[in-house]
Amino acid sequence: MIPPKFDNSYARLPDRFYTKLPPTPVANPSLIGLNHTLADQMGLDVAWLRSDDGLAMLAGNAMPNGADPLAQAYAGHQFGGWSPQLGDGRANVLGEVVGPDGGRWDIQLKGSGPTPYSRMGDGRAGLGPVMREYIVSEAMHAFGVPTTRALAAVSTGETVVRETLLPGAILTRVARSHIRVGTFQFFAARQDLEALELLLAHAIERHFPNLAARDALGFLKAVIAAQAELVAKWMGLGFIHGVMNTDNTHVGGLTIDYGPCAFMDAYHPATVFSSIDQGGRYVYQGQPEVLVWNLAQLASCLLPFIDSDKDKAVAAAQAALGEFGDIYTAAWKRVFFAKIGFSVGGDAEVALVQDLLTRMANNQADFTRLFRAMARGQGARDEFVDPTSFDEWEAEWGGGDADIMRAASPAIIPRNHRVEEAIQAGINGDYAPFHRLNEALAQPFEDRSEFADLEAAPSEQQVVRQTFC
Ligand code: AMP
Ligand code: MG
Ligand code: MG
Repeated sequence: MIPPKFDNSYARLPDRFYTKLPPTPVANPSLIGLNHTLADQMGLDVAWLRSDDGLAMLAGNAMPNGADPLAQAYAGHQFGGWSPQLGDGRANVLGEVVGPDGGRWDIQLKGSGPTPYSRMGDGRAGLGPVMREYIVSEAMHAFGVPTTRALAAVSTGETVVRETLLPGAILTRVARSHIRVGTFQFFAARQDLEALELLLAHAIERHFPNLAARDALGFLKAVIAAQAELVAKWMGLGFIHGVMNTDNTHVGGLTIDYGPCAFMDAYHPATVFSSIDQGGRYVYQGQPEVLVWNLAQLASCLLPFIDSDKDKAVAAAQAALGEFGDIYTAAWKRVFFAKIGFSVGGDAEVALVQDLLTRMANNQADFTRLFRAMARGQGARDEFVDPTSFDEWEAEWGGGDADIMRAASPAIIPRNHRVEEAIQAGINGDYAPFHRLNEALAQPFEDRSEFADLEAAPSEQQVVRQTFC
């Protein structure tokens, strides 16, 4: 059995980037889930991860040789309000491993205890949120959406205090980095140009290695493009992140920090799930616009490296931000044209998609079921309160390529009521629904009759209208 071999490039950055500290041990850890496919992809030894030493690492109870655990410092705009000091308040990056493909992976424990960045919290995570992030982040990966991944989940044998007492858990989250727009903001707010330059070079090396280490404008453009593609993919799945704060916007274009996120059942562009999003800032249809705002915050951090002439730097950054709309629209077209079975299209096809979405909203059509039914060539009209509304649209549409539609529209998504059901069972000690859901979601584009029940929309009683962190 071979423990992970660490090479911790972030820990070699100056000490104002983080606070080094070990996770806080837990009472009685037990493995809930281990992602073998991902472990293989990372070059980790599954047998070691399953051993006592492996469990001790995944629980934060003992670190293998070479780990150098730290909590990262960052800042961020939360719901538009500036917080100069955030940081990992309940997470430790244990270190980095280099996978067989030569790419670096951070291994992070989330729920691993308080840090100097904790804000009015215990530094822990509840079993429910850990299970939700495991399920949803792995589903996103299976959908082909860039995301942080879930390597493992352990229960801690301890209780966390929230609105009620909950069993505690720790997620082992892995990602190509955990660098956020807020990480750049942290140093920009302190006018720490030396740190910003190091962070820029580090982020470029990890995410855009074809760029030169100081190519701030190239980096900005690359982040803009990656994030525009990312959000278009979210839109095509009916996904609502829920907390698109700048500290939750990843510079590598990954989906990160799954909190009160959700997939829509019935389509409506004004859908909001998050209990903490009172103003609806992060509503489904508003996600691209909010993203541009977040990217503008990144741009402002990078200005000193774009051009020594401030006016020129601003003009170049604005031009880069100005390209977001075209990149996003092109990505949106690719995503939504595929959902109606077209590989290309123009204005007429955009109007066709928009007409369909309007009809869906007026008819409470289930987003996932409708597009999958179209791929199957049956049952689509039944998703409409008034099926003739679909019939009218279908006559305009005239049909599309079924293979394209099948690859663009999953049969199975992590529906809120199914995720909640799996969590409730887990709280009662039964992880079978959790494992079954993960198994189904690993191949979401397949029609598998054994998982047909997971395709059902929630009944009136099952509908989840609000999600919580
Ligand atoms: P999140 O909503 O998980 O992105 O958290 C935002 C910030 O709140 C984090 O950066 C943490 O510093 C802090 N935080 C969230 N939950 C906790 C907790 N249970 N204990 C301590 N700090 C927390
Ligand atoms: Mg966060
Ligand atoms: Mg967080």
